[in-house]
Amino acid sequence: MNDKEMFLPTDEAKAADIRNMDPLEAIKAAAEGIGLILNDPNPNCKKCHGRGFIGRHADTGEPIACSCLFPKYESARETGEIILPQNRAQRRAAKKKAKKNG
Ligand SMILES: [Zn+2]
Repeated sequence: MNDKEMFLPTDEAKAADIRNMDPLEAIKAAAEGIGLILNDPNPNCKKCHGRGFIGRHADTGEPIACSCLFPKYESARETGEIILPQNRAQRRAAKKKAKKNG
């Protein structure tokens, strides 16, 4: 890597950063970027064996987070982003609203 590359925020440079980072740190940093606080990896996890990641994307080098890092009940209520209609009346109302807006 030469000096020029170091200061260019290209996707390539970013990918190299991710590859050089501790995978778990990379995952946590990415999660924090979207406002998600992850658990510590479960040392008894059968998928990642406590590493917290189960592999890397071949193209970007990004680590693939293991499911044990995510809180069990990722609450939709907390983020307020996903609201699932609870009954038929609510579904109908949501549909109507969607039609009106779209
Ligand atoms: Zn795991």
